[in-house]
Amino acid sequence: MSNCVFVLDTDHGPQTPCHPAVARKMLRAKTAAVFKRYPFTIMLKTGAPAPLLAHTHRLKIDPGSKITGLALLDGDKVVWAAELTHRGRRIKDALLSRCAIRRNRRQRKTRYRQPRFLNRTRPEGWLPPSLQSRVANVMTWVERLARLCPITALSQELVRFDTQLMQNAEISSVEYQQGELAGHEVREYLLEKWQRTCAYCGAKDVPLEVEHLIPKIRGGTNRVSNLTLACVPCNQKKGSQTAAEFGFPLLQAQAKTPLKDAAAVNATRWALYHALQTTGLPVETGTGGRTKYNRTRLGVPKSHYGDAACVGASTPDALMFATIQPLQIKAMGHGTRQMCRTDAQGFPNRHRARQQRYWGMQTGDIVKAIVPKGKYVGTWVSRVVVKASGWFDVVIHDKKASVHQKYCTCLWSSDGYSYTLPASAGTAVSSPR
Ligand SMILES: [Zn+2]
Repeated sequence: MSNCVFVLDTDHGPQTPCHPAVARKMLRAKTAAVFKRYPFTIMLKTGAPAPLLAHTHRLKIDPGSKITGLALLDGDKVVWAAELTHRGRRIKDALLSRCAIRRNRRQRKTRYRQPRFLNRTRPEGWLPPSLQSRVANVMTWVERLARLCPITALSQELVRFDTQLMQNAEISSVEYQQGELAGHEVREYLLEKWQRTCAYCGAKDVPLEVEHLIPKIRGGTNRVSNLTLACVPCNQKKGSQTAAEFGFPLLQAQAKTPLKDAAAVNATRWALYHALQTTGLPVETGTGGRTKYNRTRLGVPKSHYGDAACVGASTPDALMFATIQPLQIKAMGHGTRQMCRTDAQGFPNRHRARQQRYWGMQTGDIVKAIVPKGKYVGTWVSRVVVKASGWFDVVIHDKKASVHQKYCTCLWSSDGYSYTLPASAGTAVSSPR
């Protein structure tokens, strides 16, 4: 079960995506041609542009700090999914390296210049470049998909838990009940409030249970001010004791302090929300608690694209996955504009390459290499790193190999993203005789 294929009519108008088998049939009969490899899109060769039907395609987004899940739903059917890996850390590293090179150069060349008056300001809504790139990556893909598929609505997970609940949880009598939507919201709230650690032993990255400071059999309530998180061993050890009896008299007071809203507001997600609204499509927002509630209710295994499919109140009562092979997209950037490259210690030691393209190919392209003789004889499909010498780096059997440009044909021009190729990646397409 793989992603559906996007279909464009003769006029570049997006049509309902079709099953890969249908696409194969059309390609074999030559009634359609490949329009794009990633995401796989075909274009019909004949026929007038079909009138748009009442489409119900909804793109759902689960923004994560490292990976963002994307799921495209046609009614209750997940027809296309992707997992988008952001650059994050690498942007920060590149900017730090630029900063070091510039400081070094100022030391060498303009040592006696007066420091510039510090009048630089940041515009409203400024985000650090590593975070801005996440917003930009998601927007790129929303816009791309909107050109390939008739998307009529968007869903985005905006906050971890209901903001209304966040402000009122401690005041109003919102109670924790397992398996209910409110219960999941309370759980997410507690995770945020107790920083995802066990309140008793401070254990991190372990399964945490919602724990009553004053146990229910001792008259404790289900209210949020009586709840904390504990790891399984601590929870069992505590048994029917109160937190004070267990040796943690201060926890009760801590549990009564409401969470400051600033702690849970995620600037990047809000920036994405505002950016999504510029598309003109209706944007539905959901909470992390609701995503989790939907995921457990519908029995969807945990994954980035599965989470995305469960975002928001519009999630149908039954989800059908037409795909379990999300396209793996990785943001790679568009190379560097730095004028010098540095050695491992950060000292500039060589000039930037004069040009990016050699023999019509550039780093990041996907090439087909047909090697007639030697160690790497065979036909290979791989991402390429171009070299001025004409000996390009390609991946053969998961290892870097040097192949001459005359054996390479470009299949896909780099667009700033790399895609996990099908099984043929770096392996023989047709085995040598
Ligand atoms: Zn513990």
